Amino acid sequence: MPMENLTTFLGIPGFKVVDTMQRKRGWRSQVILSLERERGFRFRCSGCDQEVAEVTRYRKRWVRHLFMWQHATFLRFEQYRVICPRCGLKVEALPWLARYERVTMPLAALVAELCKVMTNKAVGRLMELHTGTVKTIDKAAMQKAQAERSLDGITVLGTDEIAVGKGQTYWHLISGMDGPRGPELLYIGEGRKEKDLEPFWKWFGPERTARITHGVMDMWKGFIHSFRAHVPGIVLIFDKFHILRHLSEALNKVRKQEFVKAKGRFRGLLAGKKFVLLARKAHVRGKAREALKDVLSFSKKLARAHLLKESFVHLWSYRSKTCARRFFTEWVKELRWKRLKPYEKFSRMVEKHFDGILACCDKRVKLGYIEATNLHARNIIRRAYGYRDKEYMKLKILQACSSLGAFRPWNPSFNIPP
Ligand SMILES: [Zn+2]
Repeated sequence: MPMENLTTFLGIPGFKVVDTMQRKRGWRSQVILSLERERGFRFRCSGCDQEVAEVTRYRKRWVRHLFMWQHATFLRFEQYRVICPRCGLKVEALPWLARYERVTMPLAALVAELCKVMTNKAVGRLMELHTGTVKTIDKAAMQKAQAERSLDGITVLGTDEIAVGKGQTYWHLISGMDGPRGPELLYIGEGRKEKDLEPFWKWFGPERTARITHGVMDMWKGFIHSFRAHVPGIVLIFDKFHILRHLSEALNKVRKQEFVKAKGRFRGLLAGKKFVLLARKAHVRGKAREALKDVLSFSKKLARAHLLKESFVHLWSYRSKTCARRFFTEWVKELRWKRLKPYEKFSRMVEKHFDGILACCDKRVKLGYIEATNLHARNIIRRAYGYRDKEYMKLKILQACSSLGAFRPWNPSFNIPP
């Protein structure tokens, strides 16, 4: 094949193919294209992107490009340094070259795209790249996407926290609930105290913060204080998912107390029944349903606690605030003389935040989104026991829970920029 054709197919502006070479690596084949510059090539400074006339030879480069048919393709060329009147001695700018690792932009774009739907290991095997290289490319692409994403048009922010690893380590997740692309995870930060949220507000910016009207969150002091401090007059909504989580925790405490007291057969019955107890009864079927029946028939206290947990959900079925209020008062009355300490604590917390719980009657937001994101994030963390890089894990979660994760197999960035 004439070299002119290869030059056309390769399509790197200013460069022509002058030689090709094939070599075997095991059963795989590699093709090395030697490139030279076209006559009249214009050098640019990587610092200021201006044309520079004065250049010096720098080094021979050897970078991976996309596959050519079944051959892994390498490009060999000479890179120059420019003597820029503004920046001094700089490496020349080559826009088709990725800034990290020794790969071209089109290859980096394809790798980053594949990483959205495949494991890094699989991408590495498919593209004949080291897993570490795949990770570096993917991370850089996600950092760029996160830095460039639009944050305008958001008036409702949602917060949540997830436990990460062992012990008491938490991350906070902040979502835009009503942006132009629908609910999206915006930001992940470490910790869940008031001061831990400071970097978020700085990142989000004062102009966008000023447009926030509602905040969806857990009844958690850190979040409440931080939101009140940064957005004066904000309406806080304490959503169903978070409140039910507190109730589940209360039930779990009762379960633990009963377990400590339990003896013999009943102890065996109670062991490993946490999820059967905490799940919504309607979702417990088959064998699990039988197990639940046994547990509840053995302990009156647990049976009461379970019944109260199941009935609390009705709070959200009321359209009128007065009726919801009345329902809650009745529910609290049921607690009397039941010696359910964790429940009493829960009811005091609900009482204190009741306005915020009713606020969801006035403002319609997709509250299920926070719960879904939490589940998604936890799945990624569980699958990602191999990511020792925390930043990388955060970016992966952000990508999966937002429009950044949309798989675009015909991404225009696979083409070499002119
Ligand atoms: Zn310059």
